[in-house]
Amino acid sequence: MNGIEDLITNVERAEKLQNVLIARATHISEASDEDDFKKLRSYFLSKPETKQLVPDFVRINRNFDQFWNFIKYKIPDYAGRRSFIWAAFEPLIRYLESSSNSPAESSIDETLEALGPEGINQIWGKALERKISDPEGAITIARTLLESTCKLILDNKHIEYDSSKIELHTLYKLTAKALNLSPDQHTERIFKQILGGCSAIINGLGTLRNALGDAHGKGLASIKPETRHAELAINLSGAMTQFLIQTFEKQKEVYEICYSCKKEFSIQVLIQAEGDTMLCSDCAKVLLG
Ligand SMILES: [Zn+2]
Repeated sequence: MNGIEDLITNVERAEKLQNVLIARATHISEASDEDDFKKLRSYFLSKPETKQLVPDFVRINRNFDQFWNFIKYKIPDYAGRRSFIWAAFEPLIRYLESSSNSPAESSIDETLEALGPEGINQIWGKALERKISDPEGAITIARTLLESTCKLILDNKHIEYDSSKIELHTLYKLTAKALNLSPDQHTERIFKQILGGCSAIINGLGTLRNALGDAHGKGLASIKPETRHAELAINLSGAMTQFLIQTFEKQKEVYEICYSCKKEFSIQVLIQAEGDTMLCSDCAKVLLG
């Protein structure tokens, strides 16, 4: 019998959580089910993007006893309990199925997770949650995500800025400069252009409502941004965030001198020969055979 550690996708984990609850509700649960329930419950509640989609009764009931007390009064028969639990898990499983088809979302998520600070991860989760119910709010959050990332990088590099006054555009420029993405470094020039364009789009989407209102003189209510606009803002801001953080992380890499040719290499590509002697791969080939 496979344990939950063998489950690969989040869809499988959500289905497992659903199935152990159905088993408990219909008196066919096994000894390990409660432990699986607790682990999977914590797993989905700890992720900002799934927290809100976990059924209420999973959030409220922390163990099998509490869940049993809830379900036995809620619905009298086994078939009814199964249907109730299936329906309650539908939003979570549907979300996981659709997001597993979107590599952009998962890899952005992983970068943010690897970065550490809770704040940025929470912002990303909030933007995803709101893209359907509140696209305008989601666009605002997408801007906040980019802003927070820039500030995080600037803070880490001890670069000062006036956080109360600074505009996204200026903030982004400052960050690009701090990361050596400024236009005079010509190899990075193309990235600067692309990212400058992205930050302009995110900014632009934030003012879409006003812009359309001015152009057509219509009531503002009829021209709110839609889910697809929010998605564009969230994906752009997520992709930029990912790129900025990866650039930042790469610059934190430690460099050392090759013992033989005396050139500088990232410590990750150097090969340890005898004791503390570090060799680049070319010198290692010649010297070590
Ligand atoms: Zn060398």
